[in-house]
Amino acid sequence: ESSAKVIDGKAVAEQIRDEITAEVSRMKDEIGVVPGLAVILVGDRKDSATYVRNKKKACDSVGITSFEARLPEDSSEHEVLKFISGYNDDPSIHGILVQLPLPSHMNEQNILNAVSIEKDVDGFHPLNIGRLAMRGRDPLFVPCTPKGCIELLHRYGIDIKGKRAVVIGRSNIVGMPAALLLQREDATVSIVHSRTKNPENIIKQADIIIAAVGQPNMVRGSWIKPGAVVIDVGINPVEDAKSRRGYRLVGDVCYEEACKVASAITPVPGGVGPMTIAMLLSNTLSSAKRAHNFQ
Ligand code: NDP
Repeated sequence: ESSAKVIDGKAVAEQIRDEITAEVSRMKDEIGVVPGLAVILVGDRKDSATYVRNKKKACDSVGITSFEARLPEDSSEHEVLKFISGYNDDPSIHGILVQLPLPSHMNEQNILNAVSIEKDVDGFHPLNIGRLAMRGRDPLFVPCTPKGCIELLHRYGIDIKGKRAVVIGRSNIVGMPAALLLQREDATVSIVHSRTKNPENIIKQADIIIAAVGQPNMVRGSWIKPGAVVIDVGINPVEDAKSRRGYRLVGDVCYEEACKVASAITPVPGGVGPMTIAMLLSNTLSSAKRAHNFQ
């Protein structure tokens, strides 16, 4: 019985963070500039607060300065826009991140549009996404989770050019940019979504599968072509009486089955998850380098 190579996102993310730490300190030594990231959190969603805390901690660990604006749930869109415009004008800030989702009375489009594309480290500004989609154009930033998926393929020496890739999911933050990135790397890309008929037939043809659905264990071993590479973005809590918290996290791919068929696979947790924050730090560093013309 064959068993897939485990793609260790945690280890790769640690390595990338070490590389970033070294670059941040070189930048500080040579030109006296420390990269800065500003995070805007509106409301008191527990999960969002946790994400923001983790991003701050990650910044600290590599020497990036972090700034945080916490606004109450009932703030107006105008107040959020005021913070964004202050950060846009502040030369000590190289990255601006608005934690999503925003309260429902706010227009996400207006707010994401207001972030300067030079500081759009999440890569969610429509101009950055548009450039990602166009041939011969380059975005200033690429969204962190899909960028982390591609980085894992690169660091494990997995060829993308000419391969058949399937992305399951088409969200603005993961699936759609993942498909655009794979296409830029010269894969032939299919996108499977909730209205796709016979998804397993399409998925079965893929050499590379990126699953970003939010459905626990949806992709079965029998849907996977033998030898395919599986990148599982899904983070889904499922009940587990044996776990201390009463739940555990599983991916969108049934790992036990898939690892018998695939040639390489990311685990959940410990696969794509840690890469997302590493890519945020990397985007913030490259923004600071670009702003100060530092190579
Ligand atoms: P969304 O809910 O925004 O998008 C899910 C996508 O999956 C949609 O495009 C939807 O199709 C599609 N979909 C839903 N059900 C099916 C189905 N049965 N068959 C095929 N396609 C389906 O989720 P996100 O993209 O934000 O996140 C996806 C997963 O990735 C989640 O588990 C999330 O927790 C995880 N995630 C992990 C991150 C990380 O590792 N750091 C970061 C972000 C997300 P349609 O468009 O037709 O509705």
